[in-house]
Amino acid sequence: LSWCKKAYIQICTIPGVKITLGISSGKGGVGKSTTAVNIAAALSLQGAKVGLLDADVYGPNLPQMLGLGQADIEVIHTPKGDKFLPLEVQGIKLISVGLLAEANRPLAWRGPVLHKIITQFLQDVEWGDLDYLLIDLPPGTGDAQITIIQESPICGVILVTTPQQVAVADVRRNIYMFRQVGVPVLGIVENMSYLICGDCGSRTPIFGSGGGEQLAAELQAPLLGQIPIDSHICSGGDTGNPIASSDRTSLASEVFVKIATSL
Ligand code: ADP
Repeated sequence: LSWCKKAYIQICTIPGVKITLGISSGKGGVGKSTTAVNIAAALSLQGAKVGLLDADVYGPNLPQMLGLGQADIEVIHTPKGDKFLPLEVQGIKLISVGLLAEANRPLAWRGPVLHKIITQFLQDVEWGDLDYLLIDLPPGTGDAQITIIQESPICGVILVTTPQQVAVADVRRNIYMFRQVGVPVLGIVENMSYLICGDCGSRTPIFGSGGGEQLAAELQAPLLGQIPIDSHICSGGDTGNPIASSDRTSLASEVFVKIATSL
């Protein structure tokens, strides 16, 4: 068993779902959603049944990152009440707060509405059988994030950071929050670790170096992977082609596969 599997101490209580993992970051823009969608794609390619719950109320980008245009979430009537049906795209089941918002309008929900939507997504989605449900959490330590981690049966959380010291400082605040609510941190993913020169292959640490290693040492948790800066990660996100499935020979894809294998 890998380190992560040993750390799954909390039993997932969403019917049909074996393992629920949160993907979190201290701040926006570090690549949390990119990491979530690519780990999901890598897990799916390995034959796992995967669901993605896009709970990033501040930037619900997963539909676009999976190439989903406008789509409505279907509601079905079951003996246990009305349930949302996730959309299935690229072999991954997806529910996103972004699908509830009218095209391109900002999500300006007040606390109680937000709370209700998140609770419904946690309780009232008919996922079917899933090996992994990845929850893309909102960044930071705000109300929305706390609601989710208190109300969802998260078995563990993966923290995404860049190597930069300010990003690391924000993740530390996150760690404190997860410790308070008793959710184990399974490991750190360091994103945008270095840029590879197309000519000579040398690696330049654009955002500094060592942040991921430092956090992993502090937490005594593994550094699950260091993802390079790659323009194909960015364009793949915009066009709905996660690099982990669209360009399997890339170094970034290899790192995502390694992370998925360790889960
Ligand atoms: P977050 O979820 O933390 O807000 P995103 O996953 O939305 O961040 O990523 C922010 C932006 O950075 C997106 O445009 C994404 O495509 C890009 N990006 C993320 N990781 C990388 C990377 N390793 N290389 C190049 N671009 C990246």
